[in-house]
Amino acid sequence: MKTTSLTILALVTMSGALPALAQQPAGKPEDTEVWTPVPKIVRPGTTNAAPPSDAIVLFDGRDLHEWVTASDTTKPAGWRVHNGVVTVNKTAGDIRTKRRFTNYQIHLEWQVPVGITGSGQARGNSGLYLGALPDGGYELQILDSYDNTTYVNGQVGAVYKQYIPLANAMRKPGQWQVYDVIWTAPVFRPDGSLESPAYLTALHNGVLVQNHVALKGGTKYIGTPEYKAHGPLPLLLQAHGDPSPPISFRNLWVREL
Ligand code: MG
Repeated sequence: MKTTSLTILALVTMSGALPALAQQPAGKPEDTEVWTPVPKIVRPGTTNAAPPSDAIVLFDGRDLHEWVTASDTTKPAGWRVHNGVVTVNKTAGDIRTKRRFTNYQIHLEWQVPVGITGSGQARGNSGLYLGALPDGGYELQILDSYDNTTYVNGQVGAVYKQYIPLANAMRKPGQWQVYDVIWTAPVFRPDGSLESPAYLTALHNGVLVQNHVALKGGTKYIGTPEYKAHGPLPLLLQAHGDPSPPISFRNLWVREL
């Protein structure tokens, strides 16, 4: 257990996926892991959602012109577009949108490859950041949780280290997963204090996994989440440094609310 956590910490650090790690607070990642109760498994139906007429299409299978490299926004997004999908390039790092958003609905399809390897957090780890901040952001976890045990507030559908999903609706590797998320941004007073938290509702493969949960702040790998005032934020897709084969995405669109 300890060895695994240290290995993951080392891999995350190498990946640079969580810049906040540069200044680690006291404590251990395990301090904020929750392992029970394990969400029940629900088998989802099939889904095939084309963008609605008023959507902003962020990836339609052709190119990544809506995206840049998160660590250097002057660089184009370096992930591989092929056959209508885009596959994570872990070397290129996280990608984020050029556009910024406040309140919105987002649709995202993603696929863990057949032959995925690894376990726990090191198995198809990625993440949808509903807002990217310099020290992280608000992460809805992406992970292969089909037959893969980890801390339940870090499994698929979790608001990472904040909310356990209401169910595990994961399809097998090789099948397409669907996230539909409704995001209400936090509101800050002029002095920077929090007036209203962020709210998130999420469906995974058509199954409700988060029901209007109030976020406790930005995602923290170690320590307690906290809010720092911000305006509209870009969306971010995580290139996690775990050594498992990379996952792919398709059909990504947003409707501003
Ligand atoms: Mg992740």
